[in-house]
Amino acid sequence: MWFHTKIFKFLVIFVVFYQKIVYNQLMNIKMDLHTHTIASGHHTSDTLTSLAEKASKKGLSYLGITDHAPKMQGSANVSYFRNLRYADKVLFGVKMLYGAELNVLDTSGTIDLPKDVLDGLDYAIAGLHKQCFKPKTKYENTLALTNAMENGYVVAICHPDDPLYEIDVKSLVLHAKKTDTMLELSSVGLSPNGYRGHDVSRLVEMLLLCKKEGVLVMLGSDSHGAKNVGDFTNSLKLLETLSFPSELIVNCNEELFIERVKTKRK
Ligand SMILES: [Zn+2]
Ligand SMILES: [Zn+2]
Repeated sequence: MWFHTKIFKFLVIFVVFYQKIVYNQLMNIKMDLHTHTIASGHHTSDTLTSLAEKASKKGLSYLGITDHAPKMQGSANVSYFRNLRYADKVLFGVKMLYGAELNVLDTSGTIDLPKDVLDGLDYAIAGLHKQCFKPKTKYENTLALTNAMENGYVVAICHPDDPLYEIDVKSLVLHAKKTDTMLELSSVGLSPNGYRGHDVSRLVEMLLLCKKEGVLVMLGSDSHGAKNVGDFTNSLKLLETLSFPSELIVNCNEELFIERVKTKRK
């Protein structure tokens, strides 16, 4: 009896310890891959230096700067993106990745930076924004995103949970799988006070399908300025609730992210 109790106690300790390891792995987020500086033209006057400083304080190894591409009113011009290749590669000990948040302009998936500029960037994400793409039917909105995924420079679709656009979630996830495109879990979409609407049910549907189909998810704070850089509190809570596997969260694995960018461009 004494022996059985001891084994039982040992098992409980083992399970708790194992769960903690899994939990810690899930929390081991090294990268924020969706952030904006003053160059995006709205919501902040912070420069990439202050974003990098915040990333360092949050313990991130990588920071992705994704300012809005030129078709967004007030954002940076083509020349800004062309010259990012000369910007600091490391700031405050954080490795800098210079990208762009492209605007999907039509149902053919047209984006708003030319190939030679995209070649000079570390990566690009793309999504629908009301200034550049007026909401259309569910079929057309989805078509715009699936066609954008066909572009080798588009590694992720940002905020596919934006309630402004009706989306066929199943088509989106299956096309992401077919084209090796990641889908973003945006911190803004999960924040009740976020500047976009709040549609958790769509995110749950998307994440469960990603888990089933093995589609990579990218966490992005979409922080305009330093304030919310590396803040994934709500995203991680949701992922944990869904027992979402950490190996499908690209932010936990910088080699996987860099490899994915390379393979998509081929
Ligand atoms: Zn956006
Ligand atoms: Zn953004």
